[in-house]
Amino acid sequence: MKIRSPIVSVLGHVDHGKTTLLDFIRGSTIASKEAGGITQHIGATEIPIDTVENICGTFIEKLTIKDIIPGLFFIDTPGHEAFTSLRKRGGALADLAILVVDINEGFKPQTYEALNILKMYKTPFIVAANKMDKIFGWEIHEFDSFSKSFSTQAQSVQQELDKRIYEIVGILHKEGFQSERFDRVSDFSSQITIIPISAKTGEGIIELLAMLLGLAQEYLTEQLKIEENSPAKGTVLEIKEETGLGVTIDTIIYDGIVKKNDEIALMETEDVLTTKIRSILRPLPLEEMRDSKKKFKKVDEVVAAAGIKIVAPKLENIVSGSPLRVTRDGDHVKEDILKELEDITIHTNDNGVMAKADTLGSLEALVNLLQDMDIPIRIAEIGDVSRRDVINASIVKQEDPNHGVIIAFNVKVHPKAEEELNNSDIKLFSGNVIYKITEDYDAWIKEREEEQKKKWMDAIIKPAKIRVIPKLVFRQSKPAIVGIEVISGSIKQNYSLMDLNGNFVGTIEGMQDKGDNLPSISKGQKIAMAIKDAIVGKDFEEGDELYVDIPEKHYKILEREFKNKLTEDEFQTLNEIIEIKRKIDPNWGTFGLFE
Ligand code: GDP
Repeated sequence: MKIRSPIVSVLGHVDHGKTTLLDFIRGSTIASKEAGGITQHIGATEIPIDTVENICGTFIEKLTIKDIIPGLFFIDTPGHEAFTSLRKRGGALADLAILVVDINEGFKPQTYEALNILKMYKTPFIVAANKMDKIFGWEIHEFDSFSKSFSTQAQSVQQELDKRIYEIVGILHKEGFQSERFDRVSDFSSQITIIPISAKTGEGIIELLAMLLGLAQEYLTEQLKIEENSPAKGTVLEIKEETGLGVTIDTIIYDGIVKKNDEIALMETEDVLTTKIRSILRPLPLEEMRDSKKKFKKVDEVVAAAGIKIVAPKLENIVSGSPLRVTRDGDHVKEDILKELEDITIHTNDNGVMAKADTLGSLEALVNLLQDMDIPIRIAEIGDVSRRDVINASIVKQEDPNHGVIIAFNVKVHPKAEEELNNSDIKLFSGNVIYKITEDYDAWIKEREEEQKKKWMDAIIKPAKIRVIPKLVFRQSKPAIVGIEVISGSIKQNYSLMDLNGNFVGTIEGMQDKGDNLPSISKGQKIAMAIKDAIVGKDFEEGDELYVDIPEKHYKILEREFKNKLTEDEFQTLNEIIEIKRKIDPNWGTFGLFE
């Protein structure tokens, strides 16, 4: 048993300082002469514990950090797209994350996206509140700890910084996290640590590194345990063509050992590939790289955690984010990977949405999110939106209009698909923020439901009451034409009228005001109404109050769906109508067992 370095990823909104932070960490550790500086990996940089200790000095002693963890393994590519590609089955490859937030700008869309991704993968993280040197009046103390630099700042500057920290605390609270400035955290297992830093001046980096080490040691040692002799497990970061080497894969190994000539299993878009490692490459140490054209050196084996380049035949169709596993006779590695592929890509719901994404990791994140939202999926695939996707969505749409759509993350649309989309009414929801896409889809569904409801509401006969104005009978019958006033609600042509005892009076044939035909009228209006089949003096009298006769079915829909949409008057009239109806049939409008 060995404990490997925790894998650390940096996420956050564009321009908030992710790259600068990683560069600073690399730069400052290269600069530190003692204890070997850093170890360069493919796609990652490892800072050995000795170096971290040297940088952090006495601060680390205060945290009672012991030499359990060999160092910190930083993934070089920042951003949540890289983070989702860095996947392993059931979660993220990164053991820890730094969420970088510009202290002057606060949370931005990609900060929320990153936070949501961290939530989804349950990755522990700390918040680096960056660019504190830009706070008005800040006095720079290069490389100093936050605590030391902060103590020398003017009181107004200190207050300003705290104000901004509490804004971040407030937002995190809304997002379901308790958080505090690191020196006020009372329980690291339940509170998110916020560390104010400047990636440019290096202030606060000491605390940042120490905190990462402390958290990893305190909470992650179980998951960092590896078997040095077990077959390696890794994740493919990138597939790259290298001159003289052919197609290679850049891979992070997070468990076990991998050797030259080992057989490995990897994921393709639709299948599992097994191949034999021809060579394993590591970057040359920085000093040597300067005087040599070569970037890599060949090694016979590596133990986790390590970032390596692998040369092997048939790597052309590997997907980025693919698992890599060293196989041994008789194990189930190939089946496991196939199962993993199927879990992400195969969905049996015929009437589900089409999900497309650019990498395995982002597809997995998208699929997870759709499943969380109870949105069925017909097909989930890596790749651009194709004509076939639009056709598939059309098929679904015929049966289930809400799900006959395409949800696409970070992919292009083929010109043929574009054409097909223009000729159909299939909706494409696309973009590069997963949460934004699903939110747009959600909003669209709600809009559709509202429209649908409105159509229904319009079609439903609603409660209304009129009074026949005395001495305004224009015609006795065929049809009867009388002056009326609407007492409550609104009325349309073809509604039926009933009297106070629930007797049918007649059907409204037309409504007129000063010679204009009116399709509908509402409370307060006085107009002339033609009532088919009714005779004044027989079916009703001058001065009578008449009600709209609501069919039982309409009443039930009203009761169930739209009761809250009625005005107070309409509601009152509805109760009167119910009373009239129930005098005739006590069960009118009550719900049966199977409704
Ligand atoms: P990324 O998009 O998150 O990787 O952001 P970058 O690291 O590229 O930084 C964006 C800009 O902010 C660059 O011009 C950096 O020099 C600047 N920047 C980053 N961190 C700091 C900081 O702590 N203080 C100041 N003043 N500028 C910073």
